[in-house]
Amino acid sequence: MNADVEVDLVPQQPPLLELRHVSKRFVRPLDLPARIANLLGAGLSDEVVHAVDRVDLGIAEREVVGLVGESGCGKSTLGRIAVGMLSPTKGERRWRGARLPDLPSAEARRQQLKMQMIFQDPYASLNPRLRVVDIIGEAPVVHRLIAPQQQVEYVGLQLNRVGLDPTLMRRFPHQFSGGQRARIGIARALAVNPDLIICDEPVSALDVSIQAQIVNLLQNLQQRFGLSYLFIAHDLAVVKHISDRVAVMYLGKLVEIADKKTLYDRPLHPYTQALLAAIPKPDPGLRTKRVMLQGDVPSPFRPPTGCRFHTRCPHAQPRCSAEEPKLREATSGHRVACHFFETLPVPTIIARAGMANGKLSERLAAFEAAKQIRMPG
Ligand code: SF4
Repeated sequence: MNADVEVDLVPQQPPLLELRHVSKRFVRPLDLPARIANLLGAGLSDEVVHAVDRVDLGIAEREVVGLVGESGCGKSTLGRIAVGMLSPTKGERRWRGARLPDLPSAEARRQQLKMQMIFQDPYASLNPRLRVVDIIGEAPVVHRLIAPQQQVEYVGLQLNRVGLDPTLMRRFPHQFSGGQRARIGIARALAVNPDLIICDEPVSALDVSIQAQIVNLLQNLQQRFGLSYLFIAHDLAVVKHISDRVAVMYLGKLVEIADKKTLYDRPLHPYTQALLAAIPKPDPGLRTKRVMLQGDVPSPFRPPTGCRFHTRCPHAQPRCSAEEPKLREATSGHRVACHFFETLPVPTIIARAGMANGKLSERLAAFEAAKQIRMPG
């Protein structure tokens, strides 16, 4: 394949959901002093956050795509665009090949039900005034998936699926633990029979042992019901455990995407290498080369020209600040947005050392241990 040709990031099978050249900008209006200054001829203009910039991403049926990156890189915004909570400033969404309109129609609403979201904060995302039976059962009744008189039985089934006692359905969210609330959020998403669930940092607010149980619950449900996930997280252990493919975002751009083994064993983008190298290792005698990032994350109000990573990249060259790198194929399905990935050193030892030691291996062991906990239903 010609390495200079930009490639589409849609998987080989027909994608369930496809994001095409999606961008999202948020405008921050001028504050009062700036507006007054403008009256005096200052010529100031509104500030624009470039949250997501020309992202292409496809998610196939039954596929789990992990999306990683530092806080503020735009991954949650991309998740909200994917599920239809935000309209893209540019670009389009396609569901099973058909373009989804930005404005909801009856048909779009039906399709929209097939995409659900699980939120980072299970408490904030549950209405504290509603009982669990209504939190989970309201949407299936409103959308006529079930008759009102079936609600109690139906909610009991959903609670069983996520490992909660159906007799608790009359309780309010504050009467549950964090892990139980996460399960309620999952049951609410499952209740409308979705094909795709956007999981936005679904376990980051939970204790490690509970995280492992919830991740394994999500994995069991994905396999049992043939679901697809866009799994957004900054925790590389969680993403490695559950994903088929992993995409890495930096300042609103996708910089690398590959199947998880390739990405974790042979990361080619300097940012991915730095993310993997930053995994703590508890053994001080362990000598591994660290990839140290220079400087702070640039402001999304004024992203750097050319490669957005050039202000922190240890391999930056003059071309990097002048020309934006396109995502190019390194090997089949492995795409990298770097002008020089073919010639840069590949510190596989860093990634492998990170995987074999330290917190990451502890986390993976916790996931395996949590699998032994039998789920009802
Ligand atoms: Fe680093 Fe340049 Fe590659 Fe960007 S294009 S990741 S700055 S080497």
